[in-house]
Amino acid sequence: MTAMQHDPNCLFCKIARGQIPARKVYEDDDVLAFHDIHPWAPVHFLLIPKEHLPSLAQVTDAHAPMLGRMLALAPRLALQEGCNPYPDGGHRVIINTGREGGQEVHHLHVHVIGGPRPWLKG
Ligand code: AMP
Ligand code: ZN
Repeated sequence: MTAMQHDPNCLFCKIARGQIPARKVYEDDDVLAFHDIHPWAPVHFLLIPKEHLPSLAQVTDAHAPMLGRMLALAPRLALQEGCNPYPDGGHRVIINTGREGGQEVHHLHVHVIGGPRPWLKG
């Protein structure tokens, strides 16, 4: 088995490797979901690949299955975490990319945000 690529200085790699605690929502071999530490809304969690990848800007065709998996998980986990069902409920899916894209943590992550409004942002 090959070791998963990681960056020892990356916050989300540390969370993926259990070196920093997080409130987990979901985990499998490739993907982890955990609650955002500063939620904007009643439901706010992050989906990350366990493998280090700085942002969406570095994605290649080889990452398509992982990205597809995360997008397919988003609505399922959103319901599990308390988002109301589509169409009156729903949720937002956001991938901030780069400084001008509002990205602060440089390990690819998908924000899933929802629940009854009002929200703090968005
Ligand atoms: P972004 O601006 O898209 O890079 O979002 C980074 C997100 O990570 C922010 O919403 C932060 O609140 C969240 N965050 C930072 N540190 C942690 C942590 N230790 N556990 C959970 N979420 C975190
Ligand atoms: Zn990382």
